[in-house]
Amino acid sequence: ALGLTGALAYSIYSLRYPVEQLEADPSKKTLVILGTGWGAVSLLKKLDTENYNVVVVSPRNYFLFTPLLPSCTTGLIEHRSIMEPIRNILRQKKATVKFFEAEATKIDYEKRIVYISDDSEVKGDISHTEVPFDMLVIGVGAENATFGIPGVRENSCFLKEVNDAQNIRKRIMDCVETAMFKDQTEDEVKRLLHMVVVGGGPTGVEFAGEIQDFFNEDLKKWIPEIEDNFHVTLVEALPNVLPMFSKQLIDYTESTFKEEEITIRTKTMVKNVTEKYIEAEVSNPDGTKAIETIPYGLLVWATGNAVRPVVRDLMGQIPAQKNSRRGLAVNEYLVVNGTENIWAVGDCAITNYAPTAQVAGQEGAFLARLFNTMAKTEGIEKELQTLSEQQAQAKSNDERNQILEEIRERQKQLRRTKQIGPFQYSHQGSLAYIGKERAVADISWLSGNIASGGTLTYLFWRSAYLSMCFSSRNRVLVALDWIKARLFGRDVSR
Ligand code: NAD
Repeated sequence: ALGLTGALAYSIYSLRYPVEQLEADPSKKTLVILGTGWGAVSLLKKLDTENYNVVVVSPRNYFLFTPLLPSCTTGLIEHRSIMEPIRNILRQKKATVKFFEAEATKIDYEKRIVYISDDSEVKGDISHTEVPFDMLVIGVGAENATFGIPGVRENSCFLKEVNDAQNIRKRIMDCVETAMFKDQTEDEVKRLLHMVVVGGGPTGVEFAGEIQDFFNEDLKKWIPEIEDNFHVTLVEALPNVLPMFSKQLIDYTESTFKEEEITIRTKTMVKNVTEKYIEAEVSNPDGTKAIETIPYGLLVWATGNAVRPVVRDLMGQIPAQKNSRRGLAVNEYLVVNGTENIWAVGDCAITNYAPTAQVAGQEGAFLARLFNTMAKTEGIEKELQTLSEQQAQAKSNDERNQILEEIRERQKQLRRTKQIGPFQYSHQGSLAYIGKERAVADISWLSGNIASGGTLTYLFWRSAYLSMCFSSRNRVLVALDWIKARLFGRDVSR
């Protein structure tokens, strides 16, 4: 405990009082990193920034700990507790890193230029400009898939960014208060209190669990009138939810949802969304199909990822990307196929792995190792060059032998550093919170599934997430939020 407290105190101190940084060296290669998500930030964390002239571009000047985002929709966790300012992260690096809060709107592969645009509210004289690069890492993630289904963008809430979670939080309370409006009809009350989630992946399942918890633990205590009509429905096109988990965990999730009285509608594919209801194609057991209308008050759309326009545009410039659909095809070193100076990490890159935070994080860390090694290798190669020149000019045999010895030593070093293998993902397991203080987990190092509820799993789930948090600061804030909600309940103000 003493060691832990010491480590915490030290990390807080060093965050508060960062040491002087080396100036960035413009004569070095310019490494531009797009994004501040899992991939980009884990690269930045491990990158020796003194080797490059590093520039980071992202419309978000913070890292977001996305696994706890569903908890922000109910106010269990305050969104600022899971944000880590990128400035804090960059200020800890040995050499300075430039950061531009902007969106990368176009990447010109031939010219080696990224076009960036400041899309924030406050604009200076310059809000569009270019950033040239020698090396580029694309970690811009993905956008929400809508499959072109009409009405999705206009009427539903996504769950990807901080403002999505804030919108949902407001909308839940808006629905509840509107349902309580004087003289509201019975049908309208039912509709307003119907919380519909489309997409039975982990995002949809975790959100459904969180909102049901919110209802059970707080909402129905403060506003007992909604008890009979408040209802959560999860809609999924496939025959079951959480297809990436084992059958046992799927069954456990489905039975927990049943106890919690969350309705799961599988084999139900949403085809159209209007302001007050969704239209879905339901596959009946006898093989027939029917269109059904489902009224909703809140609609959360969680049907996975789609390629961002800036990535699609780049794919169009590179012939080797012609056949790629879901994102940038990369080789085993994460180099974008058809290029030699562009890498991609996270959800915008297509690898053999699912687009998860864990994969993105490991990819970023791998690239840091690769870039650190590349810089080291270059350094040794330069030294070798100098040594062989010296050897040629050496006067005595003794001198020559001494230099030869050094050359051999450097060559050995070079071989060692060059031995960096291709990227390999090591799966630590998947974890999803399903409400009612229960979580499902498949933990590969235990080579088994854990489907359990109760205080232990709950504590395990919480401490796992807490330990994964980005900084000690985040850890303290999240823990305080949990304690606060236990003591006082969630805040139900809009
Ligand atoms: P997903 O792609 O995993 O799931 C989307 C679901 O929506 C699919 O099951 C699909 O069949 C369904 N769907 C698509 N169109 C539909 C329609 N019109 N009507 C009804 N259903 C429809 O999406 P996600 O949950 O956002 O996850 C994205 C990625 O992030 C995944 O790789 C996931 O593993 C990862 N993730 C992991 C965790 C975790 O480990 N706890 C949490 C969140 C996300």
